[in-house]
Amino acid sequence: MTFPINKIILLLEREIRDYQVPVVDLIATQTKDPFKVLVATILSARTKDEVTAAASRRLFARAGTISELAQLTLPELEKNIYPVGFFRNKAKFLRALPAVLNTQFDGVVPHDIESLLKLPGVGRKTANLVVAVAFNEPAICVDTHVHRIMNIWGYVQTATPLQTEMALREKLPIKYWIRINSILVTFGQGTCRPQRPHCHRCVIAALCPKIGVTPRKIDKMTIAPTAEAKKLVSWNVNGLRAALKNGFFEVLRDLDPDILALQEIKVQPDQLPDELRTLPGYQAFWYPAKKKGYAGTAVFSKLAPLQILYGLDCPEFDDEGRVLTLEYPDFYFINSYSPNAQPELKRLAFKQDFNRVLLDFMDRLSKDKTVVLCGDLNVAHKEIDLANPKANVKNPGFSELERAWMDEMIAAGYIDTFRKFNQSPAQYTWWSYRFNARAKNIGWRIDYFIIDGASSDRVLDASIHGEVTGSDHCPVSVRFR
Ligand code: SF4
Repeated sequence: MTFPINKIILLLEREIRDYQVPVVDLIATQTKDPFKVLVATILSARTKDEVTAAASRRLFARAGTISELAQLTLPELEKNIYPVGFFRNKAKFLRALPAVLNTQFDGVVPHDIESLLKLPGVGRKTANLVVAVAFNEPAICVDTHVHRIMNIWGYVQTATPLQTEMALREKLPIKYWIRINSILVTFGQGTCRPQRPHCHRCVIAALCPKIGVTPRKIDKMTIAPTAEAKKLVSWNVNGLRAALKNGFFEVLRDLDPDILALQEIKVQPDQLPDELRTLPGYQAFWYPAKKKGYAGTAVFSKLAPLQILYGLDCPEFDDEGRVLTLEYPDFYFINSYSPNAQPELKRLAFKQDFNRVLLDFMDRLSKDKTVVLCGDLNVAHKEIDLANPKANVKNPGFSELERAWMDEMIAAGYIDTFRKFNQSPAQYTWWSYRFNARAKNIGWRIDYFIIDGASSDRVLDASIHGEVTGSDHCPVSVRFR
């Protein structure tokens, strides 16, 4: 039987839309700069994407051009790119790169494979990737995932990536050359993993001969949850006492969450009525800020947690009651009220520090079990996520560095659950109290449910409850099993 490559690629392209984008593709899309793509590709060899992304960001902040790169000393290069794999060798390559580009290529990154192979640190895989991703010209980059998966399919029978590249040049339709690496790296990192691929949930399982594969043992918790779906709700109430006066109990009754995360409660629990503190059917957990009337988080849960983790082990964030985590038998539920970068981005550095610590915390927990992060992350990720993106590019909540953190989180494998199910514009969760913004739907989507990529199938749908008033934010929710 002829291998149905067209059908398979079509299915995979649909499948990976919500997976993390390989870091080099991300940098190519964001920068459209062959020099940056070349450097990021050199850094990416034998390095996890999230490490490459962070190192590239650090390096490009110091050296975004060939002449700026030439100014960096070897120790500076090593310091900026650490801890990418083989960072000392890569630093040497980058140290030598500007001189070769300037003397042999007039200071311009060449766009043919033979020329690229003359650059320090550039092998065949890197050269093909730069041609395909940076210059959008036909080239087949054969990453380890491409070599491995093409052989699993029996589409090629080869022993080395070079043989795979040559075999694919013979038979893979040219229309797929540029994107095949991106598709299979993404798919290989998410579903067709090198060790124990997830064949039980693979969209092409029926078409795949699985040559030489030992499928993953089926984990009941992963694929056949017996528990009913739970409704998880997150709401920045912008002052819980004000929300109580504005219909909080009616909202609670209507939404009927199994777990409710609140942000910006601006209250100490002893300032609240008993009726709320001892809400029937729920256990309440409070994490108010030390400063009265400011920030703070709380969680109401119908399910009994195993333990409660208060904060991030960083006093500057924990004094503001920013992050409250509940551990359940099969997942962590993180409620975050992420800092606002403030006008003129005065608090941006504080927010970046917070974001870095939060992402590290998520990464640590996700090694153990599913991680669900919810809350007001105080950032609109993409232009589609706010009404006036052009006017807000330098404003808090949509500044480059705040959005870059969202990119980093998504690149690290986390899923923005709302966008998994809904690509429509004008879906907002916060509206200014000024200028009649809510009535005109001039808003921002800054409240999220995020889940680690390996657990994304556990989220059945995601919603924004724009009809709910009582705060300048509306609740967001997911059904989770
Ligand atoms: S069925 Fe298994 S081996 Fe085949 S592509 Fe899917 S995950 Fe990989």
